[in-house]
Amino acid sequence: MLFLKATPAQEPLPAELQERIVALLPLRDLKALCAHPRMIPTLRVHLKQRVIETLDSFRLKGQETLDMMSASRTVLSGSAALEIVSPGSCEPNNLNFYCPVGSAHHALSAILATKGFVETPMSLKTLMSERSPFNKFEVNNGVKRLYRLVHLPTKKTIILAESISASPLAPILFFHSTLMMNYVTGTTAISLYPDLTYERKGFLNYAVNFAKIHRPDVLDRWTGVGMSIWSDCHDLHDGHPSMSPTARKGMCQWAYRQINDDWADRMAFQRSPRLQLGPVLAWRLGHRYRTKKDVMHHKTSVHLVHEEWFKLCMYKKAVEWVRYYVPLVKETGLIDQALWKRSFPN
Ligand SMILES: [Zn+2]
Repeated sequence: MLFLKATPAQEPLPAELQERIVALLPLRDLKALCAHPRMIPTLRVHLKQRVIETLDSFRLKGQETLDMMSASRTVLSGSAALEIVSPGSCEPNNLNFYCPVGSAHHALSAILATKGFVETPMSLKTLMSERSPFNKFEVNNGVKRLYRLVHLPTKKTIILAESISASPLAPILFFHSTLMMNYVTGTTAISLYPDLTYERKGFLNYAVNFAKIHRPDVLDRWTGVGMSIWSDCHDLHDGHPSMSPTARKGMCQWAYRQINDDWADRMAFQRSPRLQLGPVLAWRLGHRYRTKKDVMHHKTSVHLVHEEWFKLCMYKKAVEWVRYYVPLVKETGLIDQALWKRSFPN
């Protein structure tokens, strides 16, 4: 490769060593190297291999799974996607796929056609707490339904989350931290908060009742691997860049974002037209707003992009998805543990 020549007069590093170096690079660096057009094919092959190896390690058939993902607009997210975007950051315990509402059968049948996989039922409680797609309140963090598939010989687990939206991405925008807001489509790897993830930092998707929505230990894993979670972006930057026309405003909890905006990093590993993943979603992270007198809380907001969004809000006609609060068990007054993991990757 061009960039690994020590000096123009010398031979480049051995191919095997180059491979090993590239394998360590985060998505942002791979993308930066694509500035050298001669390197693009090699980098694409590498990124595709990275994705396929992840799928293979969970006993799926790599290329067939990518084809299924393209055809059904299913994406891979959770810790596996973070590991693809930022190698060495975590070891995924299971694979989390997200599909648009109504397309779970497509993904399920493809996975179940792979030798060794069976579907294991979710608990009755989980099934009973499903909500209707357009219920304004108590929607399960963008998830309509979860399916669990297990590879019997190895016990490797795959979770398929059917989104409440025609976009598979709604649940991802409710994740507890921006560190997890990465996904892989059948052709492309995407990081929604690349600047922060590159620096091994993430914002909290703040919620007043955070402890009720998420598992108690959900943040410990990040500090354990040298990553930091910022509960208030104010502590990371003076003045919010979302308020400035020139600053990189995408990396702020206050910023209004859209799935197709320019703040995300995207790198295709397969040459094909960009996949349209259903309707375009907009979101803003949950955050606190401190005034001189008190603190205001803004909940996570996820909604369809609509040119008359604010007018729709005024007339209460907007479709917006909000968080689902895990109910307390009446008898004990405690959180039902079976519901903790409802729509979050491990
Ligand atoms: Zn900010």
